[in-house]
Amino acid sequence: MNDPRASRQVGDGRAGLCASCTHLQIVRSARGSEFVLCRLSFSDPRFPKYPPQPVLECAGYQRVADPDEV
Ligand code: SF4
Repeated sequence: MNDPRASRQVGDGRAGLCASCTHLQIVRSARGSEFVLCRLSFSDPRFPKYPPQPVLECAGYQRVADPDEV
């Protein structure tokens, strides 16, 4: 499975809060472009499917669990 945190957009900080959010999914086009998809958009219309980046504030933000903290 693809690790969304290995994407270029996430790695260089352009994705803002999304980079560390559990709802993040990276979508890759056939040409290699990457897009930040918010999976919360599937169940809550307040959140855009492709949020403009960088997201600096978000009511749906949920920090992904750090395996070192569990
Ligand atoms: S809930 Fe907010 S921070 Fe999380 S992926 Fe969606 S837009 Fe980004």
